[in-house]
Amino acid sequence: MPASDVIALVLALYDFSNTSQIAVLFTREMGKVRGLAKGAKRADGAFQGGLDVGSVYRLRMLAKNEGLDLLTKSEMSEAFPGLRTDLPALYAAFYVLELADALTVEHDPHPEFWDATISALRLLDHSAPRDIVLFAFEAAAMRLLGFMPRVDDCAGCSGKLPARPAFSPRIGGALCTACAPRDPGARLVSAGSLKMLARLAEGTIPLESLNVDGRIGSDLRAAFDLFWLNLLGRELRSASFLHKS
Ligand SMILES: [Zn+2]
Repeated sequence: MPASDVIALVLALYDFSNTSQIAVLFTREMGKVRGLAKGAKRADGAFQGGLDVGSVYRLRMLAKNEGLDLLTKSEMSEAFPGLRTDLPALYAAFYVLELADALTVEHDPHPEFWDATISALRLLDHSAPRDIVLFAFEAAAMRLLGFMPRVDDCAGCSGKLPARPAFSPRIGGALCTACAPRDPGARLVSAGSLKMLARLAEGTIPLESLNVDGRIGSDLRAAFDLFWLNLLGRELRSASFLHKS
């Protein structure tokens, strides 16, 4: 059984037995992988009482020909302690983890998206403005995973966009006034919010220079929510906590 040492972010954990857990891990090199952490819940086990969702570990994985890879050793690499004492930041981190899990498939590495995920968690850990961190992460996810909607001109006819275009993930992006009726589920947003989305997706602007107060922020939130709902076919569980906190 070949063994490999990986740095892995724990996206989710499922109980496998009274003492063992299945970990859904996000790694830079291998993408998303699953592993069985035997004895994870035993205080004297290799995992010192368990793995935590949202923490990064150095893990040793034993690849098996059949069934789940085995996790045999763990060492904490990054725990993001600031999240444990800041509930809104913790909810935002859960949203990042759930989205990263939902948007990736196993054994399909996306190193830059891994970097963006870790970067978002670090920013939240250091109390960076939550909305901006999430918008930047979501826009980066769109670009890095190949989902970027068309927002510079009309996705229906390539025409010029009005001041309040309709945003239609179903048709592929922003719609002009003439094309908007093609998607009754489209949502009117400001052209400025879509420009902001495009800039965020480029990932080149310093986040501290951004202002997403007021309409731009609420339009961006609505656009992302609609986009993920259309892509995933369901609402993210963590989104409801996020919007309440
Ligand atoms: Zn059009």
